[in-house]
Amino acid sequence: MAVRVLIVDDEPGMHDSYRQAFRRPVDDGRPAAMTDRPDPEPGAGGGASAIDAPSELELVHVSQGLDAIAAVDAGLRAGTPFAVAFIDVRMPPGIDGKEAAARIRALDPDVNLVIVTGFSDFAPAEIARAAGPADKIFYIAKPLDGSEVVQTATALAQRWQSDRDLAETRRMLAEKVAQLEEQAIEIAANESRAVHLANHDTLTEAPNRLAFLHALGERVQTPGCFAVAMLDLDRFKLVNDTFGHFAGDELIRIVCARLTVQLGDEGFVARLAGDEFGLLMSVSGEDEAVMRCERLLRACSGSLSIFGQSVQNSASIGLMVADADHQHDPVDLMRRADLALNEAKRAGRGVVRAFDESMDETVRFRRRIETGLGAAMTNGELTLAYQPIFARGGLEIVAFEALLRWCSPDHGMISPAMFIPVAEESDLIHALGDWVVGEALEAVKRWPGQFVSVNFSPRQFRRQNFVAQLVAQVQRAGVSPRQLQIEITEGALADNAERAAETLYRLRQMGFRVALDDFGTGYSSLYNIRTFALDSLKIDRSFIDGMGRDRASAPIVHAIIHLGRALGLEVVAEGVENETQLQALRLAGCSHVQGYHLSQPLVGEDAVRLANGGIVVDPQAPCEVVSEAPGTGTHG
Ligand code: C2E
Ligand code: CA
Ligand code: CA
Repeated sequence: MAVRVLIVDDEPGMHDSYRQAFRRPVDDGRPAAMTDRPDPEPGAGGGASAIDAPSELELVHVSQGLDAIAAVDAGLRAGTPFAVAFIDVRMPPGIDGKEAAARIRALDPDVNLVIVTGFSDFAPAEIARAAGPADKIFYIAKPLDGSEVVQTATALAQRWQSDRDLAETRRMLAEKVAQLEEQAIEIAANESRAVHLANHDTLTEAPNRLAFLHALGERVQTPGCFAVAMLDLDRFKLVNDTFGHFAGDELIRIVCARLTVQLGDEGFVARLAGDEFGLLMSVSGEDEAVMRCERLLRACSGSLSIFGQSVQNSASIGLMVADADHQHDPVDLMRRADLALNEAKRAGRGVVRAFDESMDETVRFRRRIETGLGAAMTNGELTLAYQPIFARGGLEIVAFEALLRWCSPDHGMISPAMFIPVAEESDLIHALGDWVVGEALEAVKRWPGQFVSVNFSPRQFRRQNFVAQLVAQVQRAGVSPRQLQIEITEGALADNAERAAETLYRLRQMGFRVALDDFGTGYSSLYNIRTFALDSLKIDRSFIDGMGRDRASAPIVHAIIHLGRALGLEVVAEGVENETQLQALRLAGCSHVQGYHLSQPLVGEDAVRLANGGIVVDPQAPCEVVSEAPGTGTHG
């Protein structure tokens, strides 16, 4: 685009002089004003005379100051401002050059003004003051020197153009910078949002596991004793199942809020998972830590109002106190607090347990058992022992209870009380249970009329298709369901009483016998007992053991015997260890007895012999055949 030059002069002759000057050819045949311009547009001035070619310098001629101001204004409006204005000083009758320059300057701060003076009309400083800045004001004396005019115009046009280009580049840069700044702000906002999301739990807005580990990582670097605690709600699933997930969510929020308030600014509360919270607090030692945790438990236990409903809540806490004298690893601290939490849950929930080293040892032991037990089944390390169950006060053997024995090459004899709970925490219990049933069904075939009583853990009982599997097993063994008694504890019935009742009903319908084991120690309600289809109650050994020693046991035993009778159930007293107990039970009307006093659990062959009325020399010494068993012989 052409760069525009304004000529302001009242004398027409002067305008001719300008035209003349700009039309003067130069050596290379290009117009003077274009000598340093590369690659001119074709036709823009290829001829020697086209100096004011519109594509390079466009001359605009006016003869009065006001016209000049109007032209500048119009140029600015049209986006075609002037680069240079040559202004005559004296232009009667209109305004003079100084005023014209001042007003042009007021309109356009960028235009270069060249004041053309006849003789010293004004001092340059005076004009500069009115139409500055000084670096945009120039002076040319009359009479005009054509080449000076062209040179001045060309140089100023170039400068103006490059200033404009520079300004444009600056403007674009500034725009880019502004854009980048905006993006940076957005990225920072996104980043802090992402960081927040990554570190917070969406339900409670509390810090999450990642944040907890981070806080713990910082805490282990700072001096002083502190405690890491894991809090877990007791039976949260039940709340979800009974009141719905919204209520469950609300409960989590309430608990989180209470913990946060209780722990105050110095503590740290994080939601680690579902219903599990991580707590961090400075303490002086374990006593204080336990006390504070108990206070926390109280704060979120009891009856809570959730959506207008009253929900009973309780929680357990596992605690790990990190003393100031040792280096601690955050992950290990959490692991220990977690172990302590497991112990708290096992201890009956609603309590605080602090970590101690034995918990770690327990875990190692359990892990060894778990791996060893898998191999034990295939390696033939497992056997069943059979303990007789007597009727008629010890005169008749009606059944044998199958009791699992594990002789491990590494640990020797391991009690089922030890390994069954471990198996029950994994799927091993199912394979183990299937093996026991298979063995027991083989054993029962060798007895003349007794049935076999097999223990089932709650998890086995709740297994899908439990009844169908048993049916298939007895069919495969060719044994009648009547010959198998299922012993379950109250724990198996606790979680879902309705489903348990149905399973029991189907078991009975298929012909299996059912005994409720360890009766009196669990928490099934008496009301439920009425609705469960059962054959017998087994009074827990602890009551028989306590009969002669504490005041409560004997009445409880009596009550259970009466209850059993009222419901038409057999009642088995287990763990009978002496004659006194046996006589007392007989007097109380107990229908069945079992215990070391009558017989120890026996190896398979001895059980067969005893079942057939044969001689087991000393039933209290299971592996040796020495004397006649009680309840056999003439009465058998
Ligand atoms: P349980 O069902 O209460 O079995 C009775 C336990 O008391 C047996 O211990 C038995 O040996 C013992 N016992 C019997 N008479 C007396 C007595 O006069 N005095 C004393 N002090 N104890 C007596 P055991 O064999 O160590 O079994 C412990 C527990 O392991 C069983 O308790 C049962 O809950 C579980 N268990 C055993 N075998 C199996 C099994 O095959 N499957 C499942 N799921 N659990 C089993
Ligand atoms: Ca039992
Ligand atoms: Ca028992």
